[in-house]
Amino acid sequence: MTQTFMPEIKTEEELKQLQLEGLKWTVRHAYEGSSVYRKKLEDAGVGPEDIESLGDLRRLPFTTAQDLQEGYPFPLLSVPLEKVVRIHASSGTTGKRKVLCYTQKDIDDWTHFFARCYEMAEITKEDRVQIAVGYGIWTAGVGFQLACEKFGAMAIPAGPGNLDMQCQFLVDFGSTVMCCTASMGLLMAEEVNRRGLRDKIKLKKMIFGSERSSEAMRRRIKELLGLEHMFDIPGMTELYGPGTGLECIYHTGIHYWADYYILEILDPETLEPVPEGETGEMVVTTLRKEAVPLIRYRTRDLSRLIPGKCPCGSILPRHDRILGRSDDMIIFRAVNIYPGQIDHVLSGIEGIGSEYQIILERRKDGKDYMILKVERDEGRASSMDADLMRKVKEEIKKQIMVSAEVQIVSYGELPRSERKSKRVFDNRDL
Ligand code: ZN
Repeated sequence: MTQTFMPEIKTEEELKQLQLEGLKWTVRHAYEGSSVYRKKLEDAGVGPEDIESLGDLRRLPFTTAQDLQEGYPFPLLSVPLEKVVRIHASSGTTGKRKVLCYTQKDIDDWTHFFARCYEMAEITKEDRVQIAVGYGIWTAGVGFQLACEKFGAMAIPAGPGNLDMQCQFLVDFGSTVMCCTASMGLLMAEEVNRRGLRDKIKLKKMIFGSERSSEAMRRRIKELLGLEHMFDIPGMTELYGPGTGLECIYHTGIHYWADYYILEILDPETLEPVPEGETGEMVVTTLRKEAVPLIRYRTRDLSRLIPGKCPCGSILPRHDRILGRSDDMIIFRAVNIYPGQIDHVLSGIEGIGSEYQIILERRKDGKDYMILKVERDEGRASSMDADLMRKVKEEIKKQIMVSAEVQIVSYGELPRSERKSKRVFDNRDL
């Protein structure tokens, strides 16, 4: 039998049973292992013995980023410290860093389901995986690495940046898969073409972590490198790290590992579930996590569940790409806008490049204005700008119901970075 990292369960009923057992275990484990969790549960008037069905999930209290920060340095720890074999931390731009502890079993579980990502992407043991993401306490290159080895493909731990070396590795080692941010993917694609290396490399697939990639950006990378597939890999430090799901080769959404965590999609204001298929905040509850279990953790990430079955036949349900952060929501003239929505509109318009910026201003008339800077596609004449401008304006108005001023700039004019590109500039004094 060939090795598989997919769950053994075959039916939705079995999945629900597995989730219920995991939920019961998690609540008891957190209650018994962490005084913070015990207090939260007692305050909510619910104990381990009250969990009888998956519906009881909704009786449980929420956990937030604040809970993690308040417990610094080892928040919500639910096992004795001697069971902890590793920590990771979020780089945390505001307030204290979030530090997450892992037991050996947590690391093993993470490695197992991350290997599932490679399987989902139909990577084989013959593949050579150039891992061009960061290694260290802030980042989870080690997750990519351990899972790649466990899966049995060849790991090339290149680390981020250094395009010169990356290009050399692609040629010399014949890497077939590259893991990096989408921004770096674009830089690589442009670099490979500038150096005329396209025929000398064997790259077939890219896996993009830690950043939302725009449709147009993905299209451009795919074209420039002649790739077969590109995958966004979701993940956050709180929930192990990257690798908590992956698209299959049908690209109909991200299959997520519902045998390791329960995903709820809730209205960020009311905290009630949104109707299936609608956008809301992702709230996660882990089913097996030992060191720091999560009970209804509010991720602030926005996505939606994708109803129905995937053509691949997998039992694992799907969520959409991350459509934004509930914190990144822009309120513009009383309309809630997520940057991901703008991206979605732009990606449907032909003739524009992959980069854009959203600039918000309050002018002398006291009103707010949105200026959208969009790159003209490479090789496209500037004589068409007026048309393009009108088209973008119309589509934004039609799909997001706001008016924007549109500026078309030359291809390559907007900054690109190897890390996350800043795209929203809110210059209003709010
Ligand atoms: Zn599928």
